[in-house]
Order: sequence, then C-alpha cells, then structure tokens
Amino acid sequence: MKAIVFEQHGGCEVLKYRDTPRPKAGPNDVVIKVKASACNFNDIWARRGLPGMKILLPHISGSDAAGTVVETGSEVRNVKVGDEVVVHCGISCRQCYYCTRGEEYFCPDFKIWGFQTGPLDGAHGEYCKVPAVNTLPKPPNLSFEEAATIPLVLVTVWRMLVSRAKIQAGDFVLIWGAAGGLGVMAIQIAKLFNARAIAVASADDKLELCKTLGAEFVLHRKKHDIFQEVRKITDGRRADIVFEHTGAETWPISMQCLKWGGTIVTCGATSGFDAHLDIRLLWNKQQNYLGSHLGNKGELIDAMRFVESGHIKPVVGQVLALKDLGKAQDLMETSTIAGKIAIVPPAA
Ligand code: NDP
Repeated sequence: MKAIVFEQHGGCEVLKYRDTPRPKAGPNDVVIKVKASACNFNDIWARRGLPGMKILLPHISGSDAAGTVVETGSEVRNVKVGDEVVVHCGISCRQCYYCTRGEEYFCPDFKIWGFQTGPLDGAHGEYCKVPAVNTLPKPPNLSFEEAATIPLVLVTVWRMLVSRAKIQAGDFVLIWGAAGGLGVMAIQIAKLFNARAIAVASADDKLELCKTLGAEFVLHRKKHDIFQEVRKITDGRRADIVFEHTGAETWPISMQCLKWGGTIVTCGATSGFDAHLDIRLLWNKQQNYLGSHLGNKGELIDAMRFVESGHIKPVVGQVLALKDLGKAQDLMETSTIAGKIAIVPPAA
C-alpha cells in the first residue's frame, strides 16, 4: 500500500510517499481501509523528534482515521467487515488499575496511536490497523473527510473544558489558537455550555470563522493587547477559564488574563515548554492550573453525541492528497490554515 513514511527526524523533506506492507490484524485488531485521515500537531512533533520521547522508526504518523473495516481479528466482536468507523487514538492495556477506572491516559502502557506507536502503523496510509476497542461508528451525518478531523481534537477539548475545567454557563473562556484544530472545537463546546468564548487568532479571516462558530468576542493577537481587551470584555473581572496549548509565549498573558479563583487548563506548548510561574499567585488568587492529555473513550463517546446532533460541526479548512502530507504539515507549522486538514489516500 502507499503511505507517508519517515526513517529519520527532520523537516518535511524526510516524509517519503512510498510502498509499505499492508497491516494485518492481530486477534483483537481491525484493519481499516482509510478513506481519510487528519493532520494533527503530534504528526509534526513526531517528525521533528522530541527530547525524552522515543519515536519508533520507520514511522507512519496519523492519529485520526475514518474508513471501512476490511479485516477483523479472531477475537473481535464489536465491529464487522464493512462497518464505517473512526478511531479513538488512546491505546492502553484496558486491564490495569487505571484502565479499569476509566483513566486510560494514566495506564503505564498508554500511547497515542500514530504518534508513540509503531513502527509503520499510523493513519497516513491506504490501510491502518488499530485495536477493535478503539473504533467508534462514523457519525452518519458526516463525510469521511469530515469524520476524520473530529476525534482527537474533540476528545482533547471535551476533557479540557468539561471534565477538567468544569465549564459552566456564563463563564468567560479565553481561547488561544481559536481557529486551529483544538480552538474550533473549544469555541463550539463553550457555546454548547452557554459559556462566552473570547477567541484569539492571528488573521482577520480566522476571526470571522471564530464568530461563525459562536465566539462572542474575537481578538487579533498581533493587533490587540489581549490582557487589556479581556479586562474590558469582563468588566475588569478577567476570564473564568483560559484554554491554553500555545505555551511559553502566551503563558504569562494567560496568567494575567485569569480571574481570582479561575482556571487555566492546558494540553500543550506549541511555542515552548518553559514558562515562569510566581507561586504566590496560586495561593493569593486561589487559581487552578490544570494539565490535561487527550481523554478516554467514554469522553469521546459523550462528545460525539453532539457531533451526531449537529451541535458540534467539523471544520475542514482543506482536503489534500496523501502524497501532499508535507504541504499540510507546513500549513500547520506556519499557522496559515484555519480548521483541520483532511488527507485522502489514492482511490479512497
Ligand atoms: P493547530 O496548528 O491546528 O492550531 C494551533 C493554533 O495555535 C494556530 O492556529 C495558531 O493560531 C496558534 N498559535 C501558534 N503559535 C502561537 C503562538 N506563539 N502564540 C499564540 N498562538 C499561537 O494545532 P492544534 O490546535 O491541533 O494543537 C495545538 C497544540 O496542542 C499543539 O502543540 C499540539 O501538540 C497540542 N495538543 C495536545 C494534545 C494532548 O492531548 N496533550 C492533543 C491535541 C493537541 P493563530 O496564529 O491564528 O493565533
């Protein structure tokens, strides 16, 4: 089958479009004919290489796929050949203390499929293999391209805002990267909870998109003083929740923009990992600084109900052919795309 493979870390030039063996299902696996995959930032981290994290080479990235089941392992009961599915990318043992408590992200064997797994088993190929337990039905109201762009960002944002930050009606939620993959979900989930999204992005067309998704306020991070604007919008009180993933460059502003007793929730650090924290703020302002990482399958199922009902919509900024995955990653790295990029293999 055709896939995008890299054998060494580096820039987009290490991505090679080439033939690789088609995966075979183990007893608990399914093989999916990929109709579409989606680009996620972890594809880029894997390609660049991350200190302290082993990426198995040769590597096929891709943590989101939508397609049709073409093979099932001997022990598989929950799906059958011909089913249209999407993938929950959190791979764990399903047997340990944490997994049986629904805390699969704490499993000692936890891995994000297509990022930490391998070699050669992510979504950016014509076929992929995952544990059958990691599949969910494709929402019937979505195309394969749309469906592929949903699970990873949706489960991450659902866990951040709903499970961790406990978003409530009326909350002011400051959303960085609001037109990005996580951001477009964050705006829609804030709206779903009758919270008041303050969307930040770096281009006027992105801010227009944020408004159409339900952001009540939009701020251009290169034109506005974000702290002063948040103060104005919230009548001096500042944001109840700050939705972080942008890291070192935005962290100090996120702290400034947070109200007394408010919550910063973060899942990433695109602009760098080292941020300064004055510990006095923690006790004096009694603020909450929460980490969050992906989410469990139950959280994804909960969130998917709102995709099926049309309350949360996919935002597909571009559809590109599999061979153009490098172009897709470049668009993400340079923040020149709004929404998600779907990737379509040949003859999908
Ligand atoms: P995208 O590239 O789709 O969107 C990120 C957005 O961040 C961009 O649109 C850009 O918007 C904004 N941005 C980039 N750099 C800066 C900066 N220096 N200051 C302010 N804004 C910036 O990525 P995703 O939304 O998919 O992912 C974002 C991050 O979250 C990544 O680091 C990713 O690895 C991480 N992540 C972590 C997960 C987890 O479970 N731990 C799961 C998913 C993602 P603009 O330029 O318009 O402001």
